Amino acid sequence: MASAAKEDNPRSTKRVAVVGAGVSGLAAAYKLKSHGLNVTIFEAEGRAGGKLRSVAQDGLIWEEGANTMTESEMEVKGLIDDLGLQEKQQFPISQHKRYIVRNGMPLLVPTNPAALLKSSLLSAHSKFQIISEPFVWKKQDPSKVCDEYTEESVGGFFQRHFGKEVVDYLIDPFVAGTSGGDPESLSMRHCFPELWNLEKRFGSIISGALQSVFSAKREKTEGNKGKLEKKKHKRGSFSFQGGMQTLTDTLCKEIGEDALKLNAKVLSLSYCPGNSSSENWSISASNKDTQTIDAVIMTAPLSNVKDMKITKGGTIFPLDFLPKVTYVPLSVLITSFRKENVKRPLEGFGVLVPSKEQQNGLRTLGTLFSSMMFPDRAPNDLYLYTTFIGGTRNKELAQASTDELKQIVSSDLRKLLGIEGEPTFVNHFYWNKGFPLYGRNYGSVLEAIDKMEKDLPGFFYAGNHKDGLSVGKSIASGCKAADLVISYLNSTSGDDVPGGGLSM
Ligand SMILES: Cc1cc2nc3c(=O)[nH]c(=O)nc-3n(C[C@H](O)[C@H](O)[C@H](O)COP(=O)(O)OP(=O)(O)OC[C@H]3O[C@@H](n4cnc5c(N)ncnc54)[C@H](O)[C@@H]3O)c2cc1C
Repeated sequence: MASAAKEDNPRSTKRVAVVGAGVSGLAAAYKLKSHGLNVTIFEAEGRAGGKLRSVAQDGLIWEEGANTMTESEMEVKGLIDDLGLQEKQQFPISQHKRYIVRNGMPLLVPTNPAALLKSSLLSAHSKFQIISEPFVWKKQDPSKVCDEYTEESVGGFFQRHFGKEVVDYLIDPFVAGTSGGDPESLSMRHCFPELWNLEKRFGSIISGALQSVFSAKREKTEGNKGKLEKKKHKRGSFSFQGGMQTLTDTLCKEIGEDALKLNAKVLSLSYCPGNSSSENWSISASNKDTQTIDAVIMTAPLSNVKDMKITKGGTIFPLDFLPKVTYVPLSVLITSFRKENVKRPLEGFGVLVPSKEQQNGLRTLGTLFSSMMFPDRAPNDLYLYTTFIGGTRNKELAQASTDELKQIVSSDLRKLLGIEGEPTFVNHFYWNKGFPLYGRNYGSVLEAIDKMEKDLPGFFYAGNHKDGLSVGKSIASGCKAADLVISYLNSTSGDDVPGGGLSM
């Protein structure tokens, strides 16, 4: 089939394989297909979506993976517009009301300076440290600061700027809630590259962040001058009607059933440069599917890549230079309770539990108020909660049985929200490799990815092991890899691959 098409139209024969049908792989495949390329996605599991996993059952809709995403990356907005998904976007009610536990009580996280001054989440000393940070850090030599602290932990970085209490009661719960990690294990440079660069440029991260926001606004205003209509851009986190999987389901639909091979775990890849500049690669999967292709985008976790057999020019391409990636295990427990049994319900997004609060008997990482955010996710008489357990804080607990976790979650929710009695519904999902840990040696992982891409022409890596953990960053990573493939194919064929009308 490929050769017949080749004779008809040499351009249409460019074939790309995408390994992994998580959000990064699907975004990459969608972009490639929109540019007229022939794409096949190989997915090891019997479903697409990867870490986006929404379930609807008995009047409940819950998430076993990612719950919300943001439009911080321009590729996300482009993708949502192209897919026509704006109408299905769901913004959580009172999403700016987020809570952190202190002394066993959920306290509202302050979102402006006045609220910070009034809040009892932090001591007067820490508040003073936050307010004075722009003045204290203005005096530092920014470039010197960064050279000195290249391998610094997230905890070390924030402690230098704001003190230990801010790390314990803001940073620790935040990183546990967004990556399952802890401030001491995580690398500042790899987890928060934007903030790390702000220190380099401005010294103070508060004044750096403010200046960046103002200049972005100024650029936007100047860019919009003369335009009659401004597109409304809603800020903050969001999901979709039906849950996050609506995004990956829509992508699958657009890409087409035939392009998606499920239960097709990629086992081997072989690069064999021939006389012609095309179809130098062949890919084989567990479903016995073998294809010749021009390029490949790999989005499978690096630990899975290590298990693949890769050959180059007929000889094994050894993957022993790939370092071991540490993964963070997580359990997600979905519970629902009768409204009359929740004595102190809180409106808002959810509550995070700092490690220090384990001394007050709390063992979960945090709970999202799922039906408070999205009332259509549960019948009127129930509250639906999504609780995370484990992370680097408590790896063993992540593997506990559903019964044990039900007791732990019920106990924490009793303390935090005054919940009485048993949940009316429980669902447990265990992620053995929830997140790759962006630890202090993560640079070696990125170097290894770089080496693979350099040594294997037409091989590109994308996804949450490379460009950031969030859904938005994974989408952007997939889109960037697709762009690189398009340039690569243009450079090897001499012809421009056909362009699509895609705005991402
Ligand atoms: C519990 C949880 C909650 C989260 N919450 C949020 C959140 O609220 N907001 C947010 O922004 N982010 C969140 N994240 C992070 C985010 O969901 C992920 O980082 C992102 O979805 C990763 O997408 P990906 O495509 O890079 O990887 P994945 O989704 O992991 O996709 C990789 C795919 O590759 C497949 N694969 C593996 N090996 C092979 C092989 N050999 N052959 C073929 N296929 C293979 C896998 O089966 C998988 O489908 C959460 C993550 C978890 C685990």
